[in-house]
Amino acid sequence: MREELVALAKLAEMDDSARDIDAELKQIPEQLEELRGSVQMLESLLAQEREQLAQAEALKLQQSAELKERGEGLQRARKKVAQSSNIREANAAEREVDANRRAIKEREEELGRIAETIDAKTASLAEREKDFEEAKGMLQSREESTKARIEELDQQRGVLLTGRELLVAKVPTNVVKRYERLRTGIPNAVIIIKDGNCTGCRMALPPQLNIELQRADELHQCPHCRRIIIHQTVVD
Ligand SMILES: [Zn+2]
Repeated sequence: MREELVALAKLAEMDDSARDIDAELKQIPEQLEELRGSVQMLESLLAQEREQLAQAEALKLQQSAELKERGEGLQRARKKVAQSSNIREANAAEREVDANRRAIKEREEELGRIAETIDAKTASLAEREKDFEEAKGMLQSREESTKARIEELDQQRGVLLTGRELLVAKVPTNVVKRYERLRTGIPNAVIIIKDGNCTGCRMALPPQLNIELQRADELHQCPHCRRIIIHQTVVD
């Protein structure tokens, strides 16, 4: 088992040397995804603002049409006042004039409020558009720069992991599997034991285990943290 353990220790050392690169390679797409998410959020806010502006503009058209109608109604009512032939007709026509005047005042006030809303929405829409374009640009340049970075990292990784396959071939398959499973969960899945302590979890190993480790005739794991442990004398 000694040679296999030596190969495993080398494999673990090699993998550890590429750990920062692996972490960065994992982080890059996560960061891009986060950025994409915020661009999408800005886009949907923008769509909402556009919708609100369209609604305000539709309301403005509707109120303007009503204002025009009431203006015509007022003229008709005034004509009736002028043409009325008795008090009853004149009173009725006056009431019509008043009703139209009130309606006109209300419409004008409403149109004033709508105009304010439209101004505010137009201004905030411009802000949102600016934010959206900025975020989109940032995402685009980030995508380009990370593409270059990924290539660089892949290349460095390739150099660091040269010969990895050869080492893997020297370690029994079940041990490789156990190692791979362990290292997805914890850093430093293989610990070289120097003074009877596991440096992975800082716990002391039972003395008997320490003796067995030096014999190197089977695979051992730290009883506390489950990391694979190999004695220093085995790999020296
Ligand atoms: Zn441990």
